[in-house]
Amino acid sequence: MRKMKLSNGRVVEVECLSCAIVNGIVEPDGGTIVESAHFHAHQDVAYPIKGLVILASRRHVKTFDQLTDEEAADYIRILRRIREAQRNVLGIENVYYFYNEDTTHHFHTWMVPRYEWMYEFGRSVESVRPVLLHARKHMNGEQHVQGVRKAIQLLQKELQAAP
Ligand SMILES: [Zn+2]
Repeated sequence: MRKMKLSNGRVVEVECLSCAIVNGIVEPDGGTIVESAHFHAHQDVAYPIKGLVILASRRHVKTFDQLTDEEAADYIRILRRIREAQRNVLGIENVYYFYNEDTTHHFHTWMVPRYEWMYEFGRSVESVRPVLLHARKHMNGEQHVQGVRKAIQLLQKELQAAP
């Protein structure tokens, strides 16, 4: 077991944070955005960027090739639905996708929307870490976080309406 500090300051002991979230042991601040047969989507408001979504598999696997055919099909389906919802309700034109296999958590993909202000940190992959840190440090005011929660609700409504 490892101790992890959550964004709300609470410390939990879990083997794998992704397992804890998909199994409902840890409730992500902002709540679940949508669930499918094999995946679970949420946002951690510790990174207060509207429409940022973390899509985690339900099963504890680390690498892409460990997904079954059924899980892989479900992954693409839910990823596309979330992407479409980001466009429809938040007007997001571009998204960066990140997923790495050498993480302490299990299989999860970050969907990071691209906003105009982010270009001051650069145009491509190297800008993402500074963008996330900037958001966490400087965009964490109550008004901004409320905007992020509202965006989560819009995504929830859009994604939970249709199958
Ligand atoms: Zn896990």
